[in-house]
Amino acid sequence: MVYDTIIIGAGPAGLTASIYTSRYKLSNLVIGKLLGGTITHAYKVENFPGFISISGIELANKIVEQVKNLGTEILPEGVKEIVKNPPNEFYKIKSSLPVIEVSILKWIDKKDMTDEEKKEFTGYKTIGGYLKRLSYEDAWAETWSNMSDVDKNKITSIPQFDAQIFKDITGIDITADDEINKAIKALTDAFVLWMEKRY
Ligand SMILES: Cc1cc2nc3c(=O)[nH]c(=O)nc-3n(C[C@H](O)[C@H](O)[C@H](O)COP(=O)(O)OP(=O)(O)OC[C@H]3O[C@@H](n4cnc5c(N)ncnc54)[C@H](O)[C@@H]3O)c2cc1C
Repeated sequence: MVYDTIIIGAGPAGLTASIYTSRYKLSNLVIGKLLGGTITHAYKVENFPGFISISGIELANKIVEQVKNLGTEILPEGVKEIVKNPPNEFYKIKSSLPVIEVSILKWIDKKDMTDEEKKEFTGYKTIGGYLKRLSYEDAWAETWSNMSDVDKNKITSIPQFDAQIFKDITGIDITADDEINKAIKALTDAFVLWMEKRY
């Protein structure tokens, strides 16, 4: 079975994500060990808007009901592993259930759609664009290009970080980034020197 989105965790956060996903007409599946999450342990919840006082279980049941009402299935399972599928287009999620696949989608505005895409996804006329299914590498490239240098550094400074393994998995060549940064620095230095000499 292929879903647009798979949400791991059936607590308030995962269930809320599911409600939003369903409202965007994306098929989704929630996998979570504890149905309703840790709020089910709360004797009384008195800070949730709309309820003066409600038991955690009752609140969780209401959220679960809303999720199911939107047609989403919730699997009471623990996820053990998420792996890349050979054609690199899907993640596989391993639990004790049969393997499930999920793809990564990106919103493409109609002004950025090619003629071929417009022919294939005619719904763009009403919704103003379409959701493009990204390959695993494209999804990583997208994430990496939108990531701040601070966040990139957090990843590359992990003690056991290995640039080659990272490249094998994501297709991203950190050393190429380094080369570009070196080139930019060399150009900046040259420009500063030129400015200093000139004035
Ligand atoms: C006793 C108690 C009282 C509380 N009272 C209040 C209160 O009055 N008001 C308030 O605002 N908050 C309260 N909280 C806090 C509230 O419960 C949490 O803030 C809230 O549940 C967090 O939601 P969550 O979805 O982020 O995470 P969680 O509720 O922790 O949900 C995590 C979900 O992920 C699942 N999961 C984890 N690992 C895996 C895996 N490998 N595979 C599949 N599923 C997995 C879990 O089974 C669970 O379904 C209370 C918490 C406790 C424990």
